[in-house]
Order: sequence, then C-alpha cells, then structure tokens
Amino acid sequence: MQGQNHSHEVHDFRIIVIDDNSEIHRDFIKILTSIQSTEKLDSLSDSLFSANEGKKTREPGFSLPQFNIDTAIQGEEGFFKIRNALQEGRPYSLAFVDIRMPPGWDGIETIQHIWALDRDIQIVICTAYSDYSWEETLSALGETDNLLVLKKPFDQVAVRQLAYALTRKWQIAHEMKQYNASLEAEIQDRTRELKFQAMHDALTGLPNRLLLEEKVKQAIAAAKKSGKKTALLFFDLDRFKLINDSLNHMTGDQLLCAVTSRLRKVIRPGDTLARLGGDEFIVVMTDISGTDQIAGIATALLKQFNQPFRVAERDILITVSAGISLWPDNGENFQELIRSADMAMYRAKELGGRQFQYYDSNMNKNYFNKLENGIRLRRALANEEFFLCYQPQFDISGEKLVAVEALIRWNDPKKGVMLPMDFIPLAEETGLIVPLGEWILKTACRQAVEWQSAGFPLIRIAVNITSQQLHQHNFLKMTENILSETGLAPEYLELELTENTIVNSPNVIHTIDSLRKIGVKIALDDFGTGYSCLSYLRNIKLDRLKIDRSFVRNISVNNGDEVIIHAIIEMARSMNLEVVAEGVENSAQLKFLQEQNCSEIQGFYFSHPLSGDEMKKLMSDIPSFREILSKNN
Ligand code: C2E
Ligand code: MG
Ligand code: MG
Repeated sequence: MQGQNHSHEVHDFRIIVIDDNSEIHRDFIKILTSIQSTEKLDSLSDSLFSANEGKKTREPGFSLPQFNIDTAIQGEEGFFKIRNALQEGRPYSLAFVDIRMPPGWDGIETIQHIWALDRDIQIVICTAYSDYSWEETLSALGETDNLLVLKKPFDQVAVRQLAYALTRKWQIAHEMKQYNASLEAEIQDRTRELKFQAMHDALTGLPNRLLLEEKVKQAIAAAKKSGKKTALLFFDLDRFKLINDSLNHMTGDQLLCAVTSRLRKVIRPGDTLARLGGDEFIVVMTDISGTDQIAGIATALLKQFNQPFRVAERDILITVSAGISLWPDNGENFQELIRSADMAMYRAKELGGRQFQYYDSNMNKNYFNKLENGIRLRRALANEEFFLCYQPQFDISGEKLVAVEALIRWNDPKKGVMLPMDFIPLAEETGLIVPLGEWILKTACRQAVEWQSAGFPLIRIAVNITSQQLHQHNFLKMTENILSETGLAPEYLELELTENTIVNSPNVIHTIDSLRKIGVKIALDDFGTGYSCLSYLRNIKLDRLKIDRSFVRNISVNNGDEVIIHAIIEMARSMNLEVVAEGVENSAQLKFLQEQNCSEIQGFYFSHPLSGDEMKKLMSDIPSFREILSKNN
C-alpha cells in the first residue's frame, strides 16, 4: 500500500514526432501509448534505474508515464508546434525527428531551429543507415547530451526505453532548473532585505545615515545640473531624553514612530526623511529656489508638533528645534552640510526651542569655542581645578548662623576664577554635570563633617542640584553613599532644586520623596523666576523656599515686588515651608523681610561666599558662636 504512494508520480509528458511519413506517426503512438504496464517494462525500468530507483520501480503498479503525443509532417510544422507549446507553458520534453523530410527542412536544420527556441528539449534523430555519421551530426549541431540516434527500422523496446529515459532526464533537468531559479530568487530576496536593513533604521524604517549620505549626494548632483539649491533640515526633539528616562524606552520608541509617521505625511515627493539616530531626524529638500520655500516647508513640519502625540495611553506634547543648512552656501558635501545644520539646530535650542534657525558662519566659531570649552571642563575636573565657596545663611535676626550654601568656582589656569554661570550650562550640555555634581556633593558633605568635627556648631549645608543630576536613576543611591561615606547626618544636607526641575516630572517627585524620607532637606531655589505656577507646589512636600534675588533687589524700589514677597511668605507659611530670602544687600531689605516674618536670609549684606578656612574664621568670630565654643572648651 505504501508502495503505491511512493511509486512514480505519473507525469503527463508531451512528445512530438516529426516525420514526413504519417505511418511512422501511428507506429510511435501505438508503441508509446498502448502498453501501460508490462513485465517487460518492469525489467526495463530496473535495468535503466537499478541504482537509485530500482526498488520503487519493482512495485507491481509500475507503468509508463502518460505520454501525450503530437505529430508533424514537416520540420517547420514541428517547429511551430514546439514554439506554441512553449508559449502556452506546456513545453515538449521529447521530439523524435526524422532525418529526411523532403521538401522542407531536413532533420539537422529542424533540430537547429528547435534548439534555438528551446535548449532543454530532448531529441532523438531517427535515421536509416548512413545518412549522416554521428560526427557529422555533432559538428552540425554542436556538442550536446540532449541528442540520441535511433536507427530505422525501430525496435519497439528501444523506442520505449528512449522515451522513458529521456522524459525522465528532461524532468529531472527541469526540476533542477526550477530549484535553482527558486534558490536564486531567494538569494535575491534575502540580499535585497539585507541591503534594505543596512540602509534603513530598524525602528522607524526610515533611511539611515548611510542611505541619507547617498541621497544628499544625489541631491547635490541634481542641484548642480538644475542650478537650484538643496537644503538639509536637522530636527531634534526638545527634551526627548527626559521623556525617554521618565517614562520608559518603549514609550520613547513609540513616540519616535508616531513622530515619523506624522512627518512622513508632510514630506514632499522627492524629498527624503531620514533618522540619524536617537531623536535626530533629517529632511533633505531638493529643487529649492529660495529661503521662502524652505521656510514654508520647515513651518509645515514644525506645525506637526502642535498637536500632542498619543503614546502609551497618554498625550505627549513635544516640541522640536530645527537647523537648516543650504548647498552650496553652508557646505560643499554631506559632512559639512550636516555639521552646519546641526549647529543651526543647537542655536534654535539655545533660543528656547520650538523653532528653526538657518546656519550662519558665526555659529561655527561658537561651536568650536563650545567644543573646546567642553574638553577644557573635563580636563579641569581631572586636574582638580574646581573648588567650593560657602555663603552663610542666617536666621532673620541676622545673628545666628543656620546654614551655608556651597557654590562652585573654577580656577582656570588661563582665565582665573570663573563663576558657575560661565560653565554650569556647558557642563549640563556635555553631561559633565553628573560627575562634577557628584564631586560637589561629596566635597560639600566632607567639609560639613570637617567643621562639625572641629567643634563648630551643627549647621546645614545646601548644595545646588540640576535637573539632569536629579534625573539620574541612581541619584538617591549616590546621595546615600556619599552621606555614609562622609559620615554626615542626612538632616544637615539640603538640596536646592529649581522649579523647572520639579514641574511635570513624576520620577523627580518620587526621588524627592525618597530623599526626604531618609532625612535630606529639599529647598526650592530661585523661587518666582521659573515656572511660577503655584498649584504644583501642593503636590510636593518640600522644606524651604528661597525667594529669588530679583524680588529682594526691588524692595523699596518696586511696590509690586514687595507685594509678591508678602504673598509668597504667606503662602509658604500656610504650607509649613520655611522661607529664605536670597541676595540681601542692605539694611532696608533686611528690615522689610523682618517685618514680613521671613525665616532666614542670605546675601552680601552679611557675607560673600567664603572659602572653607574663611568660614572657620567667621564661625569663630560670631559672638554667639564664640560663646558656645568657650562653653564647650
Ligand atoms: P543660586 O543657587 O541662586 O546661588 C546664589 C547666587 O547668588 C550665588 O552666585 C551667590 O554668589 C549670589 N549671591 C548671593 N548673595 C548675593 C547678593 O547679595 N547679591 C548678589 N548680587 N548676588 C548674591 P554664584 O555663586 O555665581 O552662583 C550662581 C548660580 O550658579 C547659583 O545660583 C546656582 O544656581 C548655580 N550654582 C552655583 N554653584 C553651583 C553648584 O555647585 N552646582 C550647581 N548645579 N549649580 C551651582
Ligand atoms: Mg542655590
Ligand atoms: Mg538662588
């Protein structure tokens, strides 16, 4: 039973007999179709295929394949039939061709025509003795293994043998060819796929840097011909890193895909949208006649960010900054154009984001300054060129020292002592703020412990912390480590954060809670200058507000600011927050703040920022401290 299934597939082979004698046609048909299964054929099959197929062919059900036999009286007729069969997709596997067919083509000519059409067809030349020698035949037809000679008069078994063996040979060759073709197609598909992967970004499917470079080259070549310009638009999502960190990377990825599909919709045909990596996208604009046109396109692109993106079940509003560079004005090649557009994008970011800027050559200078300064800053940290100053904070009477604020300075060997505003922004931009911030925290804590160990009164030490530092996932752990390493009790450490750091960041709020849980104090610095939205304050537990210097400066100058100070203090009281006034420079300001029941004060009126040793002196000089110190001794 099994044998039946495993026996030969019965194929429908087409055979053509080309002979000018129609009786021969009949003979062929009879020989090849009358017997389907005989003892003779079994043994025939055995002898032909004993090595591979013998077992199968010994099955009792063995039969000749189904032969479909057509005939032609002349070479031309046979040729046309073969051609039609090919066109129909049902080619002949075998042709028996008579060698002499007057008045038309003889066998050799017929075969030449047939093989010009179809190299695969098997051919048997039917010949009476000595028409042509085998050598003559081969030299006329070229070397081939698809040709056999059958001498007339025919032996029936020989005809069957030939038909059987040659159709099988044709079939195997045919299957081989198909297999090769499918293999080749697969290789081509796979190659195409790999090529696509190499040239595209896996996340968004957009062209990657490699393909972008190619596209820019093409655009430049086209612009050279047309006399028009090409522009590069460098996009960067504002604060994308923050979103990525505060939500999660999957959400970040989804956001990038959402951005991609929105941008795709507004790209002009012929322009290219590519992703450089991270949150950076490039649009290559071709066929540009002027900046008006660019501005139009850039505005349309930026407009796509007016609506929030729906990602991970929330609406995320994200803005972009874009920089534009033009060929040939701002760069000759891909690298130069990218760099110019990148600088212009940075300018757009510096100006607050949500906008695009054109490249101009001054940017180059700034960029290199910045780059160089970034390197110098890194070196400064390694060379220990930073140091801390400490500015005292007093209680409202101005007599009792309650805290110091650590303020960083950079002793640049070339330029002298630099203030934070000259390097903190750059440290943030380059990421150096993270190691630098850690150094600041450690140095401040160590200093506080040193004073405490020297017998000075226990005072808080306040350290400024930037948003980027607080967003580090290990910020809490790092702080805990420093506290235990230096031995400072947490309640003597106060971290100063600005409003912008706290607003809209669930992660930061969580970190603040955890810090307060371990006893660290949190102060809101520069209050009134930032987001200036009081409602969020109700959601966060803090310890202290520091009223910004700009309000204090206007005491007895601007009544409006006095009113604001009054309101801030009232509000803080209602929320159980202490209030420190910053930048107190004169007695009038002090008097006003005392009247308002402000809790603490800091400013040049009392003391400039001091070195560690100067602080020691100050602490020993304050009468009340001297008193305490002498009592202790
Ligand atoms: P801030 O945290 O508001 O620090 C107070 C700033 O006001 C200090 O400037 C201080 O010298 C100055 N100041 C204090 N009293 C007066 C006064 O009576 N009049 C005037 N005109 N100014 C006064 P500084 O040291 O230049 O620091 C500026 C800012 O740089 C700081 O503002 C803070 O935001 C940042 N900063 C300072 N040190 C660090 C630090 O270690 N880490 C971080 N991340 N930021 C720091
Ligand atoms: Mg501060
Ligand atoms: Mg401040």
